[in-house]
Amino acid sequence: MFKKILIANRGEIACRVAATARRMGIKTVAVYSDADAQAKHVQVCDEAVHIGGSAPKDSYLRWERILQAAKDTGAQAVHPGYGFLSENEEFAKACAAAGLVFIGPPAAAILAMGLKAQSKQLMEKAGVPLVPGYHAADQDPALLQREADSMGYPVLIKASAGGGGKGMRIVEATADFADALASCKREAINSFGDDAVLVEKYVQRPRHIEIQVFGDTHGNCVYLFERDCSVQRRHQKVLEEAPAPGMTEALRKQMGEAAVAAAKAVNYVGAGTVEFIVEQTGYDQPESMKFYFMEMNTRLQVEHPVTEAITGLDLVEWQLRVASGEPLPLKQEQLRIHGHAIEARICAENPDNNFLPVTGSLQVYRKPVCSSFERGDVRVDDGVREGDSISPFYDSMVAKLIVHGDTRAQALARLDEALSQTRIVGLTTNVQFLRHIIRTDSFATAKLDTALIQREEKALFAQEPLGLALTAAAVVANTLHHERTLKDGDPFSSRDGWRAYGVATRKFGFVFHGASYAAVLTYAHDASLQLCVADADGDVSGTLAYREDGDALHISFAGQHTRVQVFHHREGHEDVAHVFAPQGATRITVVDALAHAGEVQEAGGRLTAPMPGKVVSFSVKAGDIVKAGQPLAVMEAMKMEHTIAAPTDGEVLELLFAPGDQVAEGEELLKLKV
Ligand code: ADP
Ligand code: ADP
Ligand code: MG
Repeated sequence: MFKKILIANRGEIACRVAATARRMGIKTVAVYSDADAQAKHVQVCDEAVHIGGSAPKDSYLRWERILQAAKDTGAQAVHPGYGFLSENEEFAKACAAAGLVFIGPPAAAILAMGLKAQSKQLMEKAGVPLVPGYHAADQDPALLQREADSMGYPVLIKASAGGGGKGMRIVEATADFADALASCKREAINSFGDDAVLVEKYVQRPRHIEIQVFGDTHGNCVYLFERDCSVQRRHQKVLEEAPAPGMTEALRKQMGEAAVAAAKAVNYVGAGTVEFIVEQTGYDQPESMKFYFMEMNTRLQVEHPVTEAITGLDLVEWQLRVASGEPLPLKQEQLRIHGHAIEARICAENPDNNFLPVTGSLQVYRKPVCSSFERGDVRVDDGVREGDSISPFYDSMVAKLIVHGDTRAQALARLDEALSQTRIVGLTTNVQFLRHIIRTDSFATAKLDTALIQREEKALFAQEPLGLALTAAAVVANTLHHERTLKDGDPFSSRDGWRAYGVATRKFGFVFHGASYAAVLTYAHDASLQLCVADADGDVSGTLAYREDGDALHISFAGQHTRVQVFHHREGHEDVAHVFAPQGATRITVVDALAHAGEVQEAGGRLTAPMPGKVVSFSVKAGDIVKAGQPLAVMEAMKMEHTIAAPTDGEVLELLFAPGDQVAEGEELLKLKV
């Protein structure tokens, strides 16, 4: 076994590889770019070498520099992770030339599977079923068009060198073919430097089911069952699970053996994945499932942890053993599936804005602490810590959440809980979107296909999980709790003395989903807190109660009881409160001007406006004798009416405004003799 390896990658996969190496007593060398000088992967490795600028071409793709780093540190082997140099045949060769072991397949296998068209020609010979299509070398546009016409539409044009969901065009009709071909070729040459394409039948509502394979240098090759990666956006995976729902033993064996045949056809060694597209006529008809080879990924896959979860194996350990010349630890008949596993990719992106990646810093980053966490049924693979940034240079994946359960239903429940416990503040992520997906009828009942996200669109986008009233109540409770903890002398933070003043109100202004709202908190005679949240559909009012529970608050308001955690985050001039609750997370802007301007009275009987607004009415006139708590005036601000009550018994001397008048914050409304 190696004594020291270099990890030619970054982020979660570099950390993942380092963890296994450490467990096996293998020293690790990290490489890092300028942007990654303080990155987690640098911290978790034993040594680290700076290899250049932040852009991948200046660092993680500079293989001469990486090989030099390996030599300088005495590493014996290089683990490429995924992405970057992992499927670069020349890099694999260069490692060998430099006397280093490339922890991956032989260069020839990478080459053979590198181009989709060529690999299909190979697979055809090996008897692996293919999607009907054209994958020969002749790229004459007229020929491609004729092939597409004879296949029947829709067809899919794919860049042969493509990857990561890029370089694909669906063509619905013959008239659109020429334009789609030209645009696909443009993207292919720009992204992959190669404009060769293949054309294949576009399978309707297919599933993506892939087989994990493993080969060794002794001629053994096994399959570690399947992963269903049908839930995709932009042809990229979002959720992956194993085993595939509805899979039969017979089909599993057929697909597994086809994958092994594919691997053997290229003398495969190490971890690889054979991706199949699966046609089905219905969701519960496994006998209708027909599988076709799509491509082989000659590396460890992002979603490998679900396979680890159901097999109990460490695939990185297997990679290291195989690369050092050991035979595969287990034979096919020794491999078993235990329970069900699901992985969710947490990405810095905005699902409501076409999944555009976002950058920013992880002001708050808390991982799940749910009960199953301690039992090892929830795993988080990441390459970041709280405070780290998601930069524009690399992938937008923040973390992977992997859950395991005895059944799919149990795994699903754990995933929902783990997602609800994931707290990220500082940048937009798909965490809520993931929760919405797993709660859809389609996902919950395993009606899977690659169109799931489109089909469930209504339930997935622009969903508000908590609602204004509960969100506002959480922020108010959190503010009060915080003030009380700080003991900063705010009237609401200490009960004593306050009661003597009678009813007091305090006002909070909010902007929620683009609209302004106000909430009025009244400290009642019985010392309870009464909250009224002005909602567009009518006010919600009731008693607000809260108590501390670890790092969260239990709140109860208007018939709802929940556990919330609130984080305030400055965005420009705005104070944005992020509210996390078991049922979901949301954000609300707290309008500063009102957050602290609450007192409606001061000693000496001055009654002032708590906020800028309009006087709606007075319910008293000069000379009236009033009791503490009696309504005196109604003001309107921020879409809601606000009743100003007498702070104490007294006599109204003079009204200083008339209904309809605009008043500034702090202006005296009426004179009261106490
Ligand atoms: P998978 O099936 O494992 O998700 P992908 O082809 O989507 O495979 O890519 C795997 C990972 O590698 C993704 O996170 C992707 O963003 C990253 N990746 C793919 N190609 C590159 C590349 N050329 N440079 C850097 N990262 C890449
Ligand atoms: P990449 O290299 O980008 O991963 P793939 O060939 O693996 O490209 O295809 C990516 C995704 O595109 C698949 O997971 C599937 O959702 C979709 N796809 C690919 N081929 C077809 C097809 N023939 N019919 C329908 N969908 C397809
Ligand atoms: Mg693929």
